[in-house]
Amino acid sequence: MSTAAAAKATRAAAGGVKLADARKSFGDHEVIHGVSLGIEPGEFCVFVGPSGCGKSTLLRMIAGLETMSAGRVEIAGRDVTEVEPAQRGVAMVFQSYALYPHLTVFDNMAFSLQIARRPKVEIRTKVAEAARILRLTDHLTKRPSQLSGGQRQRVAIGRAIVREPKVFLFDEPLSNLDAELRVQMRLELARLHKEIGATMIYVTHDQVEAMTMADRIVVLEAGVVRQVGRPLELYENPDDRFVAGFIGSPA
Ligand code: ADP
Ligand code: MG
Repeated sequence: MSTAAAAKATRAAAGGVKLADARKSFGDHEVIHGVSLGIEPGEFCVFVGPSGCGKSTLLRMIAGLETMSAGRVEIAGRDVTEVEPAQRGVAMVFQSYALYPHLTVFDNMAFSLQIARRPKVEIRTKVAEAARILRLTDHLTKRPSQLSGGQRQRVAIGRAIVREPKVFLFDEPLSNLDAELRVQMRLELARLHKEIGATMIYVTHDQVEAMTMADRIVVLEAGVVRQVGRPLELYENPDDRFVAGFIGSPA
């Protein structure tokens, strides 16, 4: 298979994401207070805000992993709660990569496809393509313990890629890496986004990550969207003091 054909084989159509007055309560404590938001297909959107503001909860709502108290979330035009988990077209990457220690890199990446009983040749093609994109081709027979932190994080991303999601959800995926590696992985993710063209929603409490990676930034404070805009827009025209302080001050 040619590289172009292989690239196409791992590329699902990007999907847009729409939140309409999405709310979430734990008990009688509401933590997401009616978020409405549209994310364009293919966009790299960063949710940024301080610890505890609701970033992970919001991401889990988009993935259909949290029951909502009110409102709705649509992925590619379909209500996420009305679609079977495997058909939602979302894949999540966490900061704790949770790789299977006893499996090789290949099998870690192939796992979800093996569970879904995909044909062997399809699994080999998709894993090989994900490994190429992530520069893991020479490491496919290794176990996670033989990899560096950055390589392990790339395997975790590879597991998402082989599922061909319309939307990638990243929950602070770089926060366990050292500063130098974080910079490298930012570039890696930018390249990945360019190459596979999927919609990406990236959650972080790190303003520098938001400013350098985002097409658009969503600033959250205590379960409320404070402002949405391109990085420079927010920097130059913050709507309020919170955004000004959060985006304007160094991390
Ligand atoms: P962030 O990811 O921005 O740090 P979270 O989404 O994890 O924030 O949490 C948002 C708020 O919801 C916090 O006040 C947190 O304590 C609360 N919360 C999150 N998950 C639960 C849960 N399972 N049960 C009760 N409260 C929760
Ligand atoms: Mg979180």
